[in-house]
Amino acid sequence: MKKGRFGKYGGQYVNENLIPVLIELEEAFERYYPTPEFQEEFKGLLRDYGGRPTPLYYAKNFSKLVKCKVYLKREDLLCGGSHKLNNALGQALLAKKMGKSRLITETAAGQHGLATVMAGNICGLETEIFMGVKDMERQASNVKRMKLLGAKVTPVKSGTGVLKDTVSDTLREWTTCSRTTYYLMGSTVGPHPFPEIVATFQSVIGMEIKEQILEKEGRLPDAILACGSGGSNALGAFRSFIDNKGIRLYFVEGGGESLSADNSAAAFQLGKPGILQGALMQVLQDEHGQIKPSKTRAAGLNYPGRGPEISYLCEIGRVKACYAFDEEVFEAVKVMCRTEGLIPALETAHVIAYVLNHKEEFDKDEVIVLNYSGRGDKDLETITRYFYGS
Ligand SMILES: *Cc1c(COP(=O)(O)O)cnc(C)c1O
Repeated sequence: MKKGRFGKYGGQYVNENLIPVLIELEEAFERYYPTPEFQEEFKGLLRDYGGRPTPLYYAKNFSKLVKCKVYLKREDLLCGGSHKLNNALGQALLAKKMGKSRLITETAAGQHGLATVMAGNICGLETEIFMGVKDMERQASNVKRMKLLGAKVTPVKSGTGVLKDTVSDTLREWTTCSRTTYYLMGSTVGPHPFPEIVATFQSVIGMEIKEQILEKEGRLPDAILACGSGGSNALGAFRSFIDNKGIRLYFVEGGGESLSADNSAAAFQLGKPGILQGALMQVLQDEHGQIKPSKTRAAGLNYPGRGPEISYLCEIGRVKACYAFDEEVFEAVKVMCRTEGLIPALETAHVIAYVLNHKEEFDKDEVIVLNYSGRGDKDLETITRYFYGS
């Protein structure tokens, strides 16, 4: 396959000023990542700061409900409460090796912004987070956290004040200051080499799953399921198993209220190939090819595009593209609370909902792994308002 392409997806659809910057990044990644020094520093931080390896937990009570044997890969226990730190730490370390002094990124829900300022502080880098004005209002508590940690949070007023406008502003900013500044991409999206870099840093999840399941079960799992938008936690969990065709892989996106284009984030069901954020991928769009905003209650899944690699894997049928509706997702939160005493993130609850509503797809002697991408503390208000109205 051509470098930076996954089938027809991927590429570098950017302003020509950005090409040399992307080349510098690709060369730096190829040069530093394989070195023993980088590996040692990265793994050391993941272990001692992040808390890796995260446990692979046999959810016995939940398993009884769905009949097969269910393990949870506990990324909610990673420092920060989700898988996002794996990627932020890796890229911040790369930025430091490249001699940069500042990180910039954009964030919608604030989770990626938080992981970025954490990683920036560890590596001694300044952090500036661009955020749509509307998103800043909606995620006020994460804005406070980022500021407390020392990030500069810059409101973006252009367009409609949400993620896609912010991305354009951040890329524009990067072309003017790339000598000192590193753009820390939050998911497996964006122009090459970002999707490859992010998937590589997240692939620690699947490597651990493989080791842990062999130890616990003496064999590989029958299926692995992950939720996602850009695809970073899913690819992180899947990558070690993609060549192993006997293992079924499921990607669960945000169905929103219903499968109508105005009420959903299900880009694999409703989208088409199109260019977003510098790459060709599956994107929600209107009949004129304009990007359509996505809709789901899970902030981390509220993105209209699917990264190039997950777009390709779903297109060729290696990964099954699935979705869960908001209503099912809230019910799944309740089930996980009652069976295992865990409050999942709304994103993570999509996977739980899928399994609960498709029990017939999993045989009783099967072993399956759910990538438990994050904890639900950030969603507490949304969840309690849904159930109790306050
Ligand atoms: C951000 C986020 C996601 C979705 O992002 P991907 O890059 O697709 O993994 C999923 N779960 C949680 C808990 C998140 O914070």
